Amino acid sequence: MIDQQSSITIPAAPIMEIEVLRSPVNFLRHMLGALPHEPALREYEAWWETEGRHISDATDRAGTPWLRMFDRAGRRVDEILYAPEYWRGLRQGYKAGVVWRAFEDQSLSASALLDYITCFYDPGLTCPYVVSLATAVALDRHGSDALKARFLPQLLRRDDTVWQGATWMTEIKGGSDLGANVETVARPSGERWLLTGDKYFASNVGADLAVVAARPEGAPHNVRGLALFLLPRRSENGELNYTVRRLKDKVATRSVPTGEVELRASEAWLLGSQDRGVHLILEVLNLSRVTNALGSMAIAQRALAESADFTAHRIAFGKPLFEQPLMRKQFDEHIETLQDGFALGWESLLRLNEVWRQKPPDSDRYHLFRLVAHLAKYWTSDLAPQIARWAMEVHGALGVLAEFPVERWFREAMVLTIWEGTSHRQILDGLEVMERKGAHRLLFERLREAADPVDLAHMRRRVEAHLELPQARREALAEEMFRELAIFTARTVRHAAAPLAV
Ligand SMILES: Cc1cc2nc3c(=O)[nH]c(=O)nc-3n(C[C@H](O)[C@H](O)[C@H](O)COP(=O)(O)OP(=O)(O)OC[C@H]3O[C@@H](n4cnc5c(N)ncnc54)[C@H](O)[C@@H]3O)c2cc1C
Repeated sequence: MIDQQSSITIPAAPIMEIEVLRSPVNFLRHMLGALPHEPALREYEAWWETEGRHISDATDRAGTPWLRMFDRAGRRVDEILYAPEYWRGLRQGYKAGVVWRAFEDQSLSASALLDYITCFYDPGLTCPYVVSLATAVALDRHGSDALKARFLPQLLRRDDTVWQGATWMTEIKGGSDLGANVETVARPSGERWLLTGDKYFASNVGADLAVVAARPEGAPHNVRGLALFLLPRRSENGELNYTVRRLKDKVATRSVPTGEVELRASEAWLLGSQDRGVHLILEVLNLSRVTNALGSMAIAQRALAESADFTAHRIAFGKPLFEQPLMRKQFDEHIETLQDGFALGWESLLRLNEVWRQKPPDSDRYHLFRLVAHLAKYWTSDLAPQIARWAMEVHGALGVLAEFPVERWFREAMVLTIWEGTSHRQILDGLEVMERKGAHRLLFERLREAADPVDLAHMRRRVEAHLELPQARREALAEEMFRELAIFTARTVRHAAAPLAV
């Protein structure tokens, strides 16, 4: 019988690392030093330990929630039917500050730390928090004063009445090539627009407000023809402004409802200017990519923590698995990787903190941020499923049983490379920002003081030689170079003198 809860004693170094794994806040402290709002972070973690874990387990086990489309009088209501405890759990993060703290602090750090803790316990729940923040940021940056006055306060509430956001771009023909595949049309109607089309992967469906990609009537059928709109759940006359065709039956992230949304002359407001729509869409996605990078490492940490508990108690060949040299070496390597990946994710957050309130035109800092975000999303989303798979293997046959926690972290990790832009897109968009904006030179300048000069010169030559390749080869061979650059950046920022200032 394995007691998953009892404490473990682990001999020899790196004992601190292993203990640190068991608490997201302790790991964040280990990586970052003093944390902003640490008492609030600890209180949030304590809620997860006492109550949230059980709600999360039950939500995952229950599978896809139901969609109640009609009320008893036959009116369309489109309510998502989770258990009442789910809604209580969901509100915890909003109250703790996943959205409002970003605006109060004028920094995304506290939101990112709260999202990290959330993801350690329930990766799916991080999604509503991040898309709500992205909605609030897009509205704040690009909404008119009247629109902000009307909708922003609801998203920043600190109590149970808080509104949720959502970010809906993807349609049935595919999410990578939005320029070609978005068929939702926007027609002007006075100060508003009316949107008609279908969104095929719409997470946090049921949200009170969504930012939605659509093509204004007559705009070119390419990525420049896209614009971003703010769309409330209820129209001005109180009617449902979008309907939900069905909920997706997903293998994981079950604590966020993902559905298919129908827009039929749905009221919306243009954000920013029509000709900058694609930039606004990228801003929204880039914020999620940073959180995805940090969340990937939270899942990896959780999988390692479960494995540490298990191997401390499972005996084979006369001693705990954890003390077997091969197992121990693998632990040490994964813990190193975890810290490298976190360092790269946090670097992307620091770069985002520099630019998220900047107005156009895009600066060099923005191009640098974009490259770091692509590197971080790409590499960390690859690491998390690898570590989660290893964690299952460490549990042996028990690892594939639903009653043990580790198979869930593998399921949860699988989505990381796909949503918020797949790994292919991270690599190809990373190439683009290097080719067109010279972002690699900005990155090497940023790393100059911290990096070993010989390694830096080697990496610089490697990237520049790659960018000289003919187009098709440049794309075909890009992954290896991109991975090397990600690892080089991660290790350099991790070991810099003052690397990860909050
Ligand atoms: C659980 C979940 C929730 C989601 N929630 C949302 C949401 O709330 N809002 C939203 O807008 N979207 C959402 N998505 C959709 C997600 O953003 C898309 O899955 C993603 O953008 C990829 O699009 P696709 O799945 O249509 O794949 P496709 O675009 O069809 O691509 C298929 C494959 O081809 C690859 N590919 C494409 N172009 C190239 C190329 N040039 N070279 C090499 N390979 C290429 C892709 O990388 C991918 O591997 C969600 C997805 C999931 C799984």
